[in-house]
Amino acid sequence: MKILYKSTRGKELVQSSEAIIKGICHDGGLYIPAKFPKIDLTFEELSNLDYKSLAIYILKKFLTDFSEDDIETCVSKAYDSKFNEKTIVPLNKKGEAYFLELYHGPTLAFKDMALSILPHLLKASCKKLKMEKEMVILTATSGDTGKAALEGFRDVEGIKIIVFFPENGVSDIQKRQMITQKGENTFVIGINGNFDEAQTGVKNIFNHKEFNESLEEKGYMLTSANSINIGRLIPQIIYYIYAYGQMIKNKEINIGEKINIVVPTGNFGNILAAHYSKNMGVPINKLICASNENNVLSDFFNTGVYDKNRDFKITNSPSMDILVSSNLERLLYEVSDHDEGRVKDIMDKLKLYGKYELESNVKEKLKDFYGGFASDQECSNTIKKLYDESGYVIDTHTAVAYKVYKDYKDKTKDLTKTVIVSTASPFKFTRAVCKALNIDEYELDDCKLLGKLASHTNLQIPKNLKDIYSKEILHKGVCDKEEMKLVIKEILEL
Ligand SMILES: *Cc1c(COP(=O)(O)O)cnc(C)c1O
Repeated sequence: MKILYKSTRGKELVQSSEAIIKGICHDGGLYIPAKFPKIDLTFEELSNLDYKSLAIYILKKFLTDFSEDDIETCVSKAYDSKFNEKTIVPLNKKGEAYFLELYHGPTLAFKDMALSILPHLLKASCKKLKMEKEMVILTATSGDTGKAALEGFRDVEGIKIIVFFPENGVSDIQKRQMITQKGENTFVIGINGNFDEAQTGVKNIFNHKEFNESLEEKGYMLTSANSINIGRLIPQIIYYIYAYGQMIKNKEINIGEKINIVVPTGNFGNILAAHYSKNMGVPINKLICASNENNVLSDFFNTGVYDKNRDFKITNSPSMDILVSSNLERLLYEVSDHDEGRVKDIMDKLKLYGKYELESNVKEKLKDFYGGFASDQECSNTIKKLYDESGYVIDTHTAVAYKVYKDYKDKTKDLTKTVIVSTASPFKFTRAVCKALNIDEYELDDCKLLGKLASHTNLQIPKNLKDIYSKEILHKGVCDKEEMKLVIKEILEL
C-alpha cells in the first residue's frame, strides 16, 4: 500500500521524502499520513523482532517512496553503538508499572530516538528528489532538542546545523553538552534572551523571504528539525509497537490484551506517536497525557477547551514547559472527521484568541485519552518514594508521568497493565533528582553532583556525561537576538 502525506489544513498531497524535506505545508498545516498502514505480523512474530528489524518493518510501511536499501541503511546508521543499551529501549518492571527507557541514546533524552535517524532520512530524501542545495538545519532549543539534533546531524555530509540556545536559560549540563559539541558542520550560539525570543528569532528567519532567497542563490536551503516534521514523528511510533511486543515476549500480557500508556507531554509529539501505533493495531486502552504545572493539555482533555492564556511556569521538567502544543493539530484533524476547514478554523481561533473550544460531538471522540498533571513537589515526592520502594531512579519528566498514573489508578481502579514512558536519564536533571533524594546538593556544582548522585544510588554516570566537564569548549559565540541573521551569514560566509 502506497502512503501519501497530506496537509491538516488543505488538500496538498506529497510523498514522504517531500514531506520530510519541507517540514511544514505551504498552507501552514502539518503533514499527516493520508492513511495508516496496519501491522500485518502476528503478535508472536512481532514479539520476536529486535528493535532494528522492527524499525525497518515499520519504516517500510510509511516511507513507501524509499527503497528497502535506503531504509536499511538509515536504520543501521541510527540505532548502533551510540546507544548505551544493546536492546536500544529496555523495558523495566518497577513499582506498579513498566518503564520504557527511551534515554539510552547519545544525549540521554528520548529525542535521540527520532533525531538519530532524521538526518539520514533527510539525506536520502534529498538524494531521491535530486536536491542540489546544501541543507542548513536551523533550530532554537530550550535544551534537549538542540543537543539531540547536533549529535544526529554532526558530520552528515551536505548538511550544516546551527543551534541557538538561551545563554542563561538552560541547565548547566545541557549547556555544556552543546558548547562542547564536535563536528565540522555544527554551530552553536548563545542568545542574550529567553527561549521564546530565540524561537521567535528563528521563526522570523524562516519567514524572511529575501533572506531565504539570498541563501538559495548561494546554494543553501533552510529547514527545521523540530517535532512538527513527520520524519521525527514516524520513528517514534516504533518504540510503542516494540514495547507491546516485549510485554508479550516477557509473558506480562496475553496476546491481544490491552495496555495503558502514560506519556509526559509537552509539544504532543510523543503521545501522538503512541496514538498512531494504536491506529496501526496496537491494543491500547487509555493514553494518559501527563502535564506539569503548565497544564494546558490536561485541562484540554478534561474540558474540551484549549486555553493558553495563563502564566508560563518554569518547572523542574523544563522540556515540558510549553503552552502551545503544535502536534495537537494532527489529532484535531482526525477527530474533526478529516475536515481541513474545521482545523483551519480552530487554528485561526488559537492564533487570534489563544483559545478554542471543541464541539461536543468532537469532544466525545477524545475519550481514549485521559489528562492529569503533577506539581514539582509531587514529582519530587514520587522520585523519592519509588527509589525507597524499589531502588529505581527516575528523572523529573518521568516522575510527572508516574505521579499522574498513580492518581489515575486511584481514581479509576483501572488495573490494566501500564507502560510509563521514561523520557530522560535522571543524570540529565541531576540537581532536581538529588534534591528529591535528599542528597546534599547545596554549594556543589553540577559536575560534582553527577558523582554524588552516582555514588548515592550505586549507578554509573552515563558515559556521555562522565567527562563533560573536562571536554574542550568549542563554541563560545554569544549574540543579541537582533544579530541572529548576521551570525548565520557569517557562518555560511555570505
Ligand atoms: C521533549 C521532551 C518531552 C516532551 O515530549 P513532546 O513530544 O514534546 O510531548 C518530555 N520529556 C523530555 C525529557 C523531553 O526532552
